[in-house]
Amino acid sequence: MSLSMHQRVFTRNIAKLIVYAYQHGLELTFGEAYRTAEQQEIYVKAGKSKTMNSDHLRRLAVDFNVFTNNKLTYDWATVKILGDYWETLHPSNRWGGDWNKNNIKDGFIDVPHFEMHI
Ligand SMILES: [Zn+2]
Repeated sequence: MSLSMHQRVFTRNIAKLIVYAYQHGLELTFGEAYRTAEQQEIYVKAGKSKTMNSDHLRRLAVDFNVFTNNKLTYDWATVKILGDYWETLHPSNRWGGDWNKNNIKDGFIDVPHFEMHI
């Protein structure tokens, strides 16, 4: 499958994720989706990202601001509801709150991040 085809599958699955969030009492606003290499370098130098191989560079990742009860949250357990659903939509989908899919809050945590890692 071409990168463009993966991007379209990713975008369609993000639509499903948004609908699922609202069905479960969570509201979303967009953070970053596409990111330039220059911006990625700034994040890596600042320690906000660990890699220059981010899926944001390929339009295969998005960061969401998640709201519960009108409040922005980075609570792992709250957003894990979305992470768990995200992983059911495609075998290549990963949530930044559980990169290795072990259901434990360990390692580098990036709660707002959803990606299709091909
Ligand atoms: Zn991200």
